[in-house]
Amino acid sequence: MGTRIPGRNFLFVPGPTNVPDRVQRAMVVSMEDHRSSRFPQLSTGLLNDLKKVFKTEAGQIFIFPSSGTGAWEAALTNTLSPGDKVLASSFGQFSLLWIDMAQRLGYDVEVLEVEWGEGVPLERYEQVLRADKDHKIKAVLACHNETATGVTSDIAGVRKGLNAAKHPALLYVDTVSSLGSIDFRMDEWGVDLAVSGSQKGFMLPAGLSFLGVSPKAIKAMAGAKSKRCYFDLADMIKANASGYFPYTPPLPMLYGLRESLNIIDEEGLENIFHRHTYLAEGVRAAVLEGWKLKLCAKAPKWYSDTVSAIVVPEGINAAHVIDVAFRRYNLALGAGLNKVAGKVFRIGHLGDLNELMLMGAIAGAEMAMQDVGIKVTPGSGVGAASSYWRSHDPVPKKKVSKEQQFYAAHTTGSIQG
Ligand code: PLP
Repeated sequence: MGTRIPGRNFLFVPGPTNVPDRVQRAMVVSMEDHRSSRFPQLSTGLLNDLKKVFKTEAGQIFIFPSSGTGAWEAALTNTLSPGDKVLASSFGQFSLLWIDMAQRLGYDVEVLEVEWGEGVPLERYEQVLRADKDHKIKAVLACHNETATGVTSDIAGVRKGLNAAKHPALLYVDTVSSLGSIDFRMDEWGVDLAVSGSQKGFMLPAGLSFLGVSPKAIKAMAGAKSKRCYFDLADMIKANASGYFPYTPPLPMLYGLRESLNIIDEEGLENIFHRHTYLAEGVRAAVLEGWKLKLCAKAPKWYSDTVSAIVVPEGINAAHVIDVAFRRYNLALGAGLNKVAGKVFRIGHLGDLNELMLMGAIAGAEMAMQDVGIKVTPGSGVGAASSYWRSHDPVPKKKVSKEQQFYAAHTTGSIQG
């Protein structure tokens, strides 16, 4: 009694993200026969359109009814054998958890420890790969966007290092909090296994994972001796060939995905990337110029366009900011995880959102910070973000040729007639 908080919950954790009304409505469907002659139309459309989001023509896409963690496991177990050597770097909760999984599955993981706030160490990767003359390393893992620290890594740079070392290891990339929000190019960057999930850039609930697999990785399956069953790609390949799943797929999620892919297509991937950069820059202006606080990401080259981890001043527990924001202002901010627990709170700025939605998160975080004793100037974050957004374009500027400029200048006003 009396516990209801009126109004909308402001969901600004970096996943799950806001599910657009259109997607929610698309998921309210009656169940139907997933072995009907009509079902393949839905599934093949989804698989084809996902390829565009992964930017792959050569690769094959798989959809699993699982969270992103399932696709992590599918990537590893379908292509490796127990004892295989894996190169990975640890710089946040998610890069760390993937390493933990690889170790628990019995692979021999060489872990490069990196300070939290930095990303994949390109030079160290290349050094290790060059030194591995016998090509014992079978897998190179990279987390494209470390959601715990708000750090984006240079995946093209990882591929460059592999090529420079002439190393044949497969490249595995976690794109759970980047795909469909930050530019990712599976084919161009030579990514062999790209792992993603539904609850971030795809604007869906958690429950589907996506895996992009290169032809080279498909070949590697033949020699991979890791035990696998639910996540066996061979079963998926067989069933998907005729548009079906090897088990009962979650239909509402698939219909939601259909709508989400329609929305992505309507806005356009490149526009979506631009919008994420533009919105992220506004948040960063609030943090750095407005509040005069620091980001967990150590340098601009690591700044993530999907999530910002904000460091609170010494002596303050960031968990209190998050708790006050939630209980008092109905605002969900992301928690600090593991090494940065209590030190940071996170604002997710990915998926279906715009300036004014983010203003709610910035204003709420600002009030909650003041409530727990952080000396930020009231309105400073909101002011800095609005100055940024008002002086920048939310969509990329169209390239206009000289002829078009001339035509526009000489026809203005005369067209209406
Ligand atoms: N990888 C990254 C970068 C993530 O942010 C997450 C979840 O937030 C995961 C992997 C795990 O995905 P899931 O929670 O969907 O299993």
